[in-house]
Parts: sequence; C-alpha cells; structure tokens
Amino acid sequence: MRKKLICALALIFACTALGACSPQKNDSRLTRHGEMLNTVVTLTTYGTDDEAILDGAFELCAEYEAILSRTAEGSDIYRINHSGGEPVAISDATAELIGLALDYAELSGGAFDPSIEPIVSLWDITSESPRVPGDDEINQALSRVDWRGITLEGNTVTLRPGMSMDLGAIAKGYIADRLRDYFSDAGVTGALINLGGNVLTYGKKPDGSPFTVGVQKPFASNEVIGAYRISDMALTTSGIYERYFEQDGAIYHHIMDPKTGRPVQNDVYSVTILSPHSVDGDALSTICFVLGADDGLALINSMDGIYAVYCMADGSLIFSEGAEAEWIDKSRLQ
Ligand code: AMP
Ligand code: MG
Repeated sequence: MRKKLICALALIFACTALGACSPQKNDSRLTRHGEMLNTVVTLTTYGTDDEAILDGAFELCAEYEAILSRTAEGSDIYRINHSGGEPVAISDATAELIGLALDYAELSGGAFDPSIEPIVSLWDITSESPRVPGDDEINQALSRVDWRGITLEGNTVTLRPGMSMDLGAIAKGYIADRLRDYFSDAGVTGALINLGGNVLTYGKKPDGSPFTVGVQKPFASNEVIGAYRISDMALTTSGIYERYFEQDGAIYHHIMDPKTGRPVQNDVYSVTILSPHSVDGDALSTICFVLGADDGLALINSMDGIYAVYCMADGSLIFSEGAEAEWIDKSRLQ
C-alpha cells in the first residue's frame, strides 16, 4: 500500500507540476492531500484562501466513503452485502450510484458488473500475499456474479442470495462529481479534484487558462506520456499497473473479466477517458479496458463529447475520433 501511495503521490506531483506551467495572475491556490477512498485524494482550489472550503470537501469525501465503502461496517454497501437476500434501505446517493452502475452494466453487455465482488475478494489483489485461485474457486465465485440479480426499487436494493456488490469501478467518479458541485456551491471559481488518478477539473485557473492534466506512462509512476488541456472535464484512467501482483512471470491485475472470473487478458495497458462527468469517465474507462480497443473505441465513437486514448502493451497509442487533435505529446510539454 505504501509503495502505491508513493507512486500515486508522485503522479499527482507530476500533474501538479504540469498544472503550474502556465503563468498565474495571483497565487491564491490551496492544495491538500489525504489518504482516503483507498487511495490518495488531492484537492486544489483556485482563487480563494479559505481553508474551510477544503475542510468541508474532505468531510464530504469521508461521508461518501462511510456509505459506499465495501469494507466499512454499517456502510450501505456493507449492509447490502450482508443482507442475505433481504431488501435493504439505502441513502439517495447510493441508490443513484447503483442505478448508474446498472445502466452501465446493461450498456456494456455485462463487461462492467457491479456484482463482481465475489471475484474481487477471491483474488484479493492488494492483500499481503495474493495468489492465483484454483478453477473450482473461480467457478464458485463466478456463479454468484450477475448484475441482473440486483433489484433497485427507489431507495431499496435487494440482491439474489449469495451475491454481493463492489462499486470500486465507479464510486470515485461519482464522488468527484459531488465534490465539483460542492466547490461550485461554495463559490470557488476553479478546482482540481484528483481521487487517485480520477481527475476532474472544475472552472479555470485565475488567469483564465485551463488545467493541464497528464496521462501516466504505464508502469512508470512519475512519468507522463502526454496530456490534455481541459476545464470542466474529467480525465479518468483505468490501467493494469495500478494494482497488480506478479507470479511466474505473469501479471495479475485488478480489472476482472466477468465472463472468466480472471484479470482481463488483452493487449491494453491503460485506457484514459475524457468526459464532462467524472462518473461516466470512471465507468467507461473500466468498460473500455474490459472490452479491448476495437469494441471500446466503437462504443466511445458512438457517444457525443466523450473521448478515449488507449495505451497498448507495445507502447502505441490509439485514439478515439477527435481525441488525437487535442493530445499534447510529452515532447511538446514544457
Ligand atoms: P477502475 O480502476 O475504475 O477501473 O476500477 C477497478 C476496480 O473496480 C477494481 O479494483 C474492482 O474493485 C472493480 N472491478 C474490477 N473489475 C470490474 C468489472 N469488470 N466491473 C465492475 N467493477 C470491476
Ligand atoms: Mg472505473
């Protein structure tokens, strides 16, 4: 965990350094890091010296973590996962997020599956001594995975007995959007919201310039391969290098194929999505990873205002329609 946090911090510093490239009219910029949501959260506000706004933002993060965490006892997701198939009353936010997750499960034909929890727990990629499970164990866990077994009616959710949920592929994006709403309500004119690599930009910097957000080079924690200049856009990456272990020369990472119950095996190292809302970018980056480049690009090209960049295992980049025009290659970044 420590190593991952250091890597994440290094990337954030890289992004922050890029963000500081453009000259600023004033220096009213506040940044704070925190270890939350199982990652490093970095929030930056522009055009205000009011530290209380950041206090409130971190409190909001903690509130969402308390209802959406899979492991925190008493959270909505914990109660759902321990309900034994009984209906569970949940908060508005959890209901909204589960509704979105089910929409994305349907859209992706089940490539995105919020009931993936039994597989995630079985592999336990981030544990001290992760191992490759046996076929029987994988099949047993897979028999408990099927998003169609989740019933959401208003603020009540019911799972088919034996099932459990994991919203790790979408919750950070949802929380980033809520933080953006919070900063907007607080009168902040610009903010950079970074939840462990899920970056959402709100407004602009005081000099009116957009934010420069880097795309990490896979397996190189403090190196970027390029960047986008964005405002009021999210840049979200799903990559195999984020959480993985190696065994007998093979890499076992954290993005699971709901068809096989194993880490997705393809020629993709990472997928970055640009989208107006962070929750969409979060869901779509995971989906595009699972679908692979051909099907993922077809999906993104069918959506208005959403763009994708695939970093392939051979080092090449593949862009969705319109994404290459705005790309700033590393060689052009000062
Ligand atoms: P992300 O980093 O947003 O791509 O999310 C990856 C996380 O989502 C993993 O650590 C798991 O908790 C969960 N996850 C893994 N595979 C899937 C999947 N196919 N559908 C939904 N969630 C997944
Ligand atoms: Mg995701």
